This record gives sequence, structure tokens and C-alpha cells, in this order.
Amino acid sequence: MNYYSLNKKAKSESFRNAVIKGLAPDKGLYFPESITPLPSSFWDNLDNLSNSEIAYEAIKQFVFPEIPENVLKSIVAETLSFDFPLVPLNDNISSLELFHGPTMAFKDVGARFMARCLGYFNENNTNEVTVLVATSGDTGGAVANGFLGVKGVNVVILYPSGKVSDIQEKQLTTLGQNIKALEVDGTFDDCQAMVKTAFLDTDLTSHMQLTSANSINVARWLPQLFYFIFAYKQLHNQHKNIVFSVPSGNFGNICAGMMAQQLGLPIEHFVASNNENNVVTRFLLTQLYQPKPSVQTISNAMDVGSPSNFIRIQEIYKNNFESLKENLSSYSFSDKETREALLEIYNNYNYVADPHGAVGYLGCKSYLDQNPNAHCVFLETAHPTKFLNVVEDIINEEQPLPKQIQSVMGKQKVSVKISTYEDLKGFLLN
Ligand SMILES: *Cc1c(COP(=O)(O)O)cnc(C)c1O
Repeated sequence: MNYYSLNKKAKSESFRNAVIKGLAPDKGLYFPESITPLPSSFWDNLDNLSNSEIAYEAIKQFVFPEIPENVLKSIVAETLSFDFPLVPLNDNISSLELFHGPTMAFKDVGARFMARCLGYFNENNTNEVTVLVATSGDTGGAVANGFLGVKGVNVVILYPSGKVSDIQEKQLTTLGQNIKALEVDGTFDDCQAMVKTAFLDTDLTSHMQLTSANSINVARWLPQLFYFIFAYKQLHNQHKNIVFSVPSGNFGNICAGMMAQQLGLPIEHFVASNNENNVVTRFLLTQLYQPKPSVQTISNAMDVGSPSNFIRIQEIYKNNFESLKENLSSYSFSDKETREALLEIYNNYNYVADPHGAVGYLGCKSYLDQNPNAHCVFLETAHPTKFLNVVEDIINEEQPLPKQIQSVMGKQKVSVKISTYEDLKGFLLN
């Protein structure tokens, strides 16, 4: 598959080159040249397919021929070596738990898939690649874990100092080996801006092959479309009118869901659930797209003022506002509402959500108010103990730490503090 740049000024690239470059030279995000719906036999036979088989069929058109069949089969099998259970809360709402991977964040799937693709591309060559990634919380840990020990790949993670949870910080600063963490005196948007500047700095890029492991990278973004098919498989025999409420920050996850829909996934609607960083909620109301600086919330992985994947969503809908609006609703919730929702989920259903999942749950409720016959699945994007202080404070009960989390808590944080782009550049060139 070839990928074109959404800024339309750079040339199209193979999957391999799109993954290695991350962002096109004209600053555009890569987008696949075609999307061929999967045959009806695939959808009819879903109940008989394993997760790996589903994933293989769903992604192959996007990665062939650069990744051959047998390699792709093992990449998806290794990537998906954990469960994606769907937990019904009531007749109308279910939680799709995406946190059973090694760092307990849904980003594990994209990070593991991308690391394996890059590892494969690098197998026979001695050119090192540096993966540069900005994180608002969970990306860093997932990428660090996914890429740990991958030959020929160095990983540099930028995170906003004091704005990620303790557990998240431990997950991205304690691994060592080929993983380095930079603690930025600033916000996530500052981190993301530095990463973007680095990609366009020819001084740097003439010295090293830089790539990104944010959802701008097609190998991180596309595998997320699996979740929606996995959920559909578990639901379609009981429920029609399936709707997904996706707690959204950079809009990579929800955009991947829309790609699944382009592949033929028969679902009714998407809900983009936002915290107070609500540029898309406002866009759907006013038709004005006005990014603004991010504000800090208790669902910090969604504290994104200028969501990078929204441009891909616009491309899917050919920039047609009306057709986008038919398929996408968006709601925005305050921290106060999020706390109340978390408590409500706990009291009514004896289920512990994390703050991001709670925002997703609120999105379901808002949608169901208008569409009472739908079945709404909210994506539970992180394990609640990753936001331990917030969650325990709300439900007033201590939470046991899962083994994935326990294993990092005692380790020593290692990070380098930086505040400007020049600091970053100096670090990379040394
Ligand atoms: C990254 C993240 C999100 C937002 O996902 P996007 O693809 O950036 O919209 C939501 N919840 C959690 C826990 C995350 O880590």
C-alpha cells in the first residue's frame, strides 16, 4: 500500500517508508491511497475467527507487500497476546477493556505492532532509527515497553514534567537500555511541538533517521482499528445499533474506528468524548475549527489542544461537514462531571473505571439520551490504578495493584530535564 501526505506536497511513499519517516516532509500526515472493504464472507464468518485472524485480515491491505504474509501473521499474534474483554454495565452500555496489555494502556497494541514492523524493516541493515515521541501520559510507557530491546532502534520520550501520573512516569523512566526519557518543563503541546520541529530540522535529519511513534505514525495508528472489530464480534449477536464512545485526545483511536467502518464494520455511530479540551465538540457545534492551548484535567491523556489526527477524519469524510456530523457526535465533560460519573459507575454497577473511561461513559449517556435504542460501548483505555490517586479519592476504597504496575513501582526514575528545543537537539546530537 502506498500512502500520500495530507498536505499533498510530498510524494507518496510505501508503507515501509511511511513508517520510517513518520511525518511526510511537507509536515502532512500519511494516509492510505485506497481502502478496500473486507468481503461479506469475512463479516459473516467473524464468530469463527480468532483475534489474530481478524487482525491479519483487517490490516493486510495496509502493509502488503512490504511486510510479507508469514511475518505479518507473527507480528499480529505477538502484538495481540492478551484479552480485550467486553463488560456489560447494563442493557445499553458496555465497557471495552483495552488495558490488559503490558503497560495497561490501549496504546500497547499500536506500540507493539509498530515496534515489530520497524524491527523487521531494520533486520538486515545497520542504520539506526531514533524514535522520537511526545507523551501526555500513556504513549510513553507503551512505546518504551513495546520497543525495549528492539535492535537498531533508539527511543527518546518527551513528557511534560509533573503532568503525568506517578505510575505513568515510572513506566517510561525506568526501563533503561535503548529507552531515554526527557522531562520537559512545559505542557504536552510543548512536547509535541518540539517533536514536530525536530522532524523538520534538516540539521538533525541529515545526521540521524528520526521517526515518530505517536499516532501520526501509520503503524501506531492503524492497528487500533482491531478493537472495534473485536467488540463487534462480542456484541453483534445480542445487539443492533452499536455505537462507540471513544475518550479522545489526539483522535487516533476514534479515527482508527472510522477506518474499521470504512472496511465494512456495520455500526451506527461514533461519539468523541472529550474532557475540557474540546476543540472537536466545538467544531461540530459551530463548524469552526479552533485549536487552543491544552488545559490540565484528571483525564490527562486527553489534554490535547490541537488533535493531530482530526485531519485524517476530515479526509475520511472528504471534508464534508454534513456527512461527518451524521456519523460523529461529540460531547465535552468537566472534571467534576467525570468524578461524579466514576462514582456513579462504581455505585450502580460495582465497576471501577478510570477517568478516561468515565468520560467515555458520559459520552454514552449523552448519546443514549437522544437515541435510547442504541447499545453504546465506551472504550476503557487505561487501567484505573494508573490514575490511583484520583480513583481512590473518588470511590474511597483502596485498589489492589496489578502485577504489571507493581513491577515498576520500586524502580528508580531516570530522566533528563529539558526546557527548549535547543536542549532537545543537543541531546539528540550527542
Ligand atoms: C492516549 C489516550 C487516550 C486518547 O487517545 P487518542 O487516540 O489520542 O484520541 C485516551 N485515554 C487514554 C488512557 C490514553 O492513554
